[in-house]
Amino acid sequence: MNYTILGGGLSAISLAYYMQDNNKIDEIHILEKDDTLGGICRTYVKEGIEYDVGPHIIFSKDKEILDLMNGLLGENNEKHRRSNRILHKKKFVQYPFENDLSKLPQEDINYCVNAFLHNPFENYQAENMLQFFLKTFGEGITNIYLRPYNEKIWKFDPCFMDTQMVERIPKPPKEDILRSAKGETIDGYLHQLYFTYPKKGGTEALIKAFISKLGKKVTIHTNAKVIGVEKTSDGYKIETSSGNFTADKIVSTMPANEFCHIYKDAQKPAEILETADNLRYNSIAICIVNVKKDYAGDNYAFMVADKNVKFHRISKLDFMGGNYHIDGTATYMAEITYRKNDLNDKATDEELISKVVEGLEKIGFIDSKEDVNFTDIRRFEYAYVIYDLNHRKNMDRIKDYFSKQGIYLNGRFGSFEYLNMDAIIRQSKNLAQSLQGAGEI
Ligand SMILES: Cc1cc2nc3c(=O)[nH]c(=O)nc-3n(C[C@H](O)[C@H](O)[C@H](O)COP(=O)(O)OP(=O)(O)OC[C@H]3O[C@@H](n4cnc5c(N)ncnc54)[C@H](O)[C@@H]3O)c2cc1C
Repeated sequence: MNYTILGGGLSAISLAYYMQDNNKIDEIHILEKDDTLGGICRTYVKEGIEYDVGPHIIFSKDKEILDLMNGLLGENNEKHRRSNRILHKKKFVQYPFENDLSKLPQEDINYCVNAFLHNPFENYQAENMLQFFLKTFGEGITNIYLRPYNEKIWKFDPCFMDTQMVERIPKPPKEDILRSAKGETIDGYLHQLYFTYPKKGGTEALIKAFISKLGKKVTIHTNAKVIGVEKTSDGYKIETSSGNFTADKIVSTMPANEFCHIYKDAQKPAEILETADNLRYNSIAICIVNVKKDYAGDNYAFMVADKNVKFHRISKLDFMGGNYHIDGTATYMAEITYRKNDLNDKATDEELISKVVEGLEKIGFIDSKEDVNFTDIRRFEYAYVIYDLNHRKNMDRIKDYFSKQGIYLNGRFGSFEYLNMDAIIRQSKNLAQSLQGAGEI
């Protein structure tokens, strides 16, 4: 049996890794449009500095998958204590915000604590993300940090986002809020307190480690953009930019919205295309800035909710170790999200870089643009799935349609779910197992 996987990111590679041991599979083909596998787990280089598409750290509550990732990296792996900060009025507040309230100006502390203790929204059912924040944290923490930060990263009003991403965030106990306001910093999200990162090669080192474990059954086809898929009497015909393929079975990890359009089926309901076009997602611009001075200290990532600063997050790459550092300088990665046709999308790369440099000056990380040694910028269309109010309904409809066509959807944009690397690998393992259980392999 021949299984063909559309797309060649972590999802495809980890799926091939798990499926290859099955005796009933003779061939696995991975079709990737770019010249290199890895998708958003790829790593790029500027002036010797390796950087990812946003900082890709390795952490998980899923011990089996975490052990697998760390094991694959072996010696090329280093443990770090997470040091994330929220930059609020030039103050460094430890992440998560509610655990370090004493760093705020006194009037903001009073607003956060008072609104938390006397919260009129507490007993309502939260129907959207904003309601969840107000109900769980009160108006102060919501208005000072959660609302502006989320508006900035999603470029989508949290009133129109559902609660899928946030519903598992626990309500902080009253005692913790009071302790945090009085000056005690409470460590939150314990499974994220430590993370690992490749000593060299960035996140793509993990992709390369996975690829090294793929056996003879797996054939990788790069520069093979899938442009058409059709069901035939005995399988599927796949049209790509570098020729046609046939497959007994396919799994798609390419963006589900695009897949709906290239899938040829005379009976395809018109509503599938409409649903596909209603899936919301963000693109990202990654901007690297190497500067002469280091005002960030021994910290890694900084969240910036201030609307006057273009980026929502910056990360200090030097934090990851000697291979990500140039002596006498500091290198930052700034992230700017956007959607097709918004003002960030329409801005030129030079305009975005200049806004990033301006932002670094505003937050006090450089004295002036004269401090900048070099910059780099790259844009990636698919970065974040947006859980808008119709997301669940839309994706259920699309998954249901493709499962009737015998096709499985896997991966961050393949299944259109907000999944990190650990969850992607778990999803691949589960899919390989469930196909086997269903007698499909
Ligand atoms: C800014 C940012 C920060 C992140 N940080 C972390 C982190 O710290 N820790 C963590 O665990 N995870 C992180 N992630 C998540 C992680 O990147 C994803 O979970 C993972 O890369 C998803 O892999 P994938 O294979 O599903 O998707 P992708 O990497 O998008 O792979 C899809 C592949 O399909 C290919 N493709 C698309 N269309 C076609 C076509 N028509 N024909 C052929 N090929 C096609 C693409 O080129 C791509 O290679 C982050 C993601 C982002 C965007």
